[in-house]
Amino acid sequence: MPFKPADNPKCPKCGKSVYAAEERVAGGLKWHKMCFKCGMCQKLLDSTNCSEHEGELFCKVCHARKFG
Ligand SMILES: [Zn+2]
Ligand SMILES: [Zn+2]
Repeated sequence: MPFKPADNPKCPKCGKSVYAAEERVAGGLKWHKMCFKCGMCQKLLDSTNCSEHEGELFCKVCHARKFG
């Protein structure tokens, strides 16, 4: 099995590698558990209440408020 050292996805929020143990997936991007929060109210999110918009994360409430 080939070993690919530089293949870890980068977190869009902080730019660091995301490992499987701490990943959260939204909008086809992988985020750290601790970076997976709303860009407006800073609330920590999970896959059920997040909305991704052009590489930024929002909670459902802020997303609705910002984008209708
Ligand atoms: Zn991060
Ligand atoms: Zn929010």
